[in-house]
Amino acid sequence: MPSLYIHIPFCLSKCPYCSFVSHAGMNELHQRYVNALLREAKELCRNHPDAPLTTLFLGGGTPTIFSGEALATIITGCAGLFGLEHDAEISIEANPRTIDAAKLLLLRASGVNRLSIGVQSFQDQELRLLGRPHSAEDAAHALRLAKDAGFTNISLDLMYGLPGQTPDSWRNTLERAISLEPTHLSLYELTIEQGTPYYQQQEQGLLQLPDDEAVADMDQLTATLCREAGLVHYEISNYARPGFECRHNINYWQNGPYLALGAGAVACMNGCRRQKINDPLRYCERIESGQSVIMEEECLEPAASFRETVVMGLRMLCGVSRENLQSRYGLDVEGYYEETLVRLINQGMLELTARHLRLTARGRMFANQVMAELV
Ligand code: SF4
Repeated sequence: MPSLYIHIPFCLSKCPYCSFVSHAGMNELHQRYVNALLREAKELCRNHPDAPLTTLFLGGGTPTIFSGEALATIITGCAGLFGLEHDAEISIEANPRTIDAAKLLLLRASGVNRLSIGVQSFQDQELRLLGRPHSAEDAAHALRLAKDAGFTNISLDLMYGLPGQTPDSWRNTLERAISLEPTHLSLYELTIEQGTPYYQQQEQGLLQLPDDEAVADMDQLTATLCREAGLVHYEISNYARPGFECRHNINYWQNGPYLALGAGAVACMNGCRRQKINDPLRYCERIESGQSVIMEEECLEPAASFRETVVMGLRMLCGVSRENLQSRYGLDVEGYYEETLVRLINQGMLELTARHLRLTARGRMFANQVMAELV
């Protein structure tokens, strides 16, 4: 059964490192966007009556920039159209400054059972440099409110490799996060994306990023502190208490099917990936006039889809299942990659068992290079 992703492309402000489809302001468009989403959902549901959904994920942008009522309308509307499995995972991303007790209670009542809070750092100085519209205390307060509202599955997003960050300040951030007892941590290294203000600053030599040695120390700290806290490393950038791994994202990493709604959202069904138009106003206009909102479509031939499934699956620490590859594509990694695979295994990058192919600890340090050879 498919997953459904809903993109809310609005934020309080635009962070200078962000390359996501997200826009500050545009408040006057919010209600119109909710209506457009529901209209697109009706259309999508007609073409995909094979639901119920196993997971529903509201991401952004900042979904919680919407009122609790608007979010409840979207969630219950989609649940009514597609149906939800009895144990469906329903996640929402939140910025600490956009949630309060009433909104959280409404989200819980609408069935949301997983909250992902974008904290990024527990150092106010780092948050300022990141252009985040919240403080460390706002983030801790948001997590306490979420627990009070009955959320038992809470993820915190943190970033490392930040301007001005040191292994010590990363340790402080991680220790503070762990002390709040989240069930899940997403820990991403900052990447400088073209077209962002950070990219320009880097080009001008104005961005003081930690060097490779400091970032390696941060990686080491992450491994140690998460292990000590009982948070299991299950994907390159994700850690969870056992049983709290994000099912929606696991479906992505397994290259499974997913539907999508909203401006900038990407869907993947039957081997075809469809990207919706990015501009929220044009998205609304096209939905309202009954026109397609698909901007790009790419259908992979089976061998390319096989390679993509291998590479995405290697992000998971358990690796990619050979049995699943065989039943899905009729192909095995040994026969397909031949000498390339043997070489990567001999270099200590990959480990092949009877059931899985996975990255070794060394392979995870060079994950991008290994994946580039296999894609
Ligand atoms: S809050 Fe997230 S989506 Fe919004 S601008 Fe910042 S990084 Fe981008």
